[in-house]
Amino acid sequence: MAVISGLADLHTHTTASDGLLPPAEVVRLAKQAGLAAVAVTDHDTVAGVAEAVLEGERLGIVVVPGVEISTEASGVDVHVLGYYTDNGNGAWLERLAGQRNIRNRRNEMIVSRLRELGIDIVMDDVAAAARSAASKEGDRRKDASIGRPHIAEALIRKGAVADMKEAFDRYLASGAAAYVNPPRLHPAEAIRWIREAGGTSVIAHPGLYGNDRLVEELLRSGAQGIEVYHSDHGEEEVRRYAALAERHGSIITGGSDFHGVRGGKPFHGAVGSRTVNADTARKLFSVKGLSTS
Ligand code: AMP
Ligand code: ZN
Ligand code: FE
Ligand code: FE
Repeated sequence: MAVISGLADLHTHTTASDGLLPPAEVVRLAKQAGLAAVAVTDHDTVAGVAEAVLEGERLGIVVVPGVEISTEASGVDVHVLGYYTDNGNGAWLERLAGQRNIRNRRNEMIVSRLRELGIDIVMDDVAAAARSAASKEGDRRKDASIGRPHIAEALIRKGAVADMKEAFDRYLASGAAAYVNPPRLHPAEAIRWIREAGGTSVIAHPGLYGNDRLVEELLRSGAQGIEVYHSDHGEEEVRRYAALAERHGSIITGGSDFHGVRGGKPFHGAVGSRTVNADTARKLFSVKGLSTS
């Protein structure tokens, strides 16, 4: 792969998971923002990657195939980003499908909890909210994943809450009334899956875990990069994780975690609001399938 110059946003979501825009549209926004590269990193699915890659070829912007795997370690939600996995690998796709099944069972548990709290809501309401987020494309794409933002959207439609923030604060955030987090895959397992699928693993938004010891443990167990730049990281976190990456010889990545625009405001950051040098994509490519441990 040749040197890529310019900037890259290495973390975005599309209608293949809980983003509001189809993959091709996210790539168009990245091109408009003047980026040289953009990664599509949907939750537990690669269903948006092929469309994004095609649009990138059409527009002349590098599209990095990605995924963001939901895992759990000692009760904390940990997200592991995977780049350049071989998405024709059947075992890898089955592992992701298993993740989506666990996710669906978790969603059902949240919905029953909401019913116990007196809210008249069923899984069909959540599915309908997910479908209409993807309305421009008609039905949802095969292998798309459903998440808490879709449950939040269903709660808004029921009039149970006024907006996303209230939905998370009252019901869906960690520790809130309807939060359930059944045991999930351990992040070290996700790192292994990504390696076995020929990809490169990066610890997403480490600042959100409140557990730097865990982050270091995951670097030792084979994670190849750290997402230093992220919409939820302040300057202090950027410095701290850049230093951590330096110490471990890890690849420094970054991205907006764009999810679309809601009520005029980007949900997380706008495309291109957090970036790294686009040559980072080449680094992610060159270490794929290798383990640092
Ligand atoms: P899930 O993967 O289904 O557990 O949902 C996680 C997603 O919910 C994240 O990627 C965010 O998009 C969103 N999210 C998590 N916490 C919050 C919060 N406090 N406020 C708004 N959105 C959130
Ligand atoms: Zn999300
Ligand atoms: Fe995340
Ligand atoms: Fe994300």
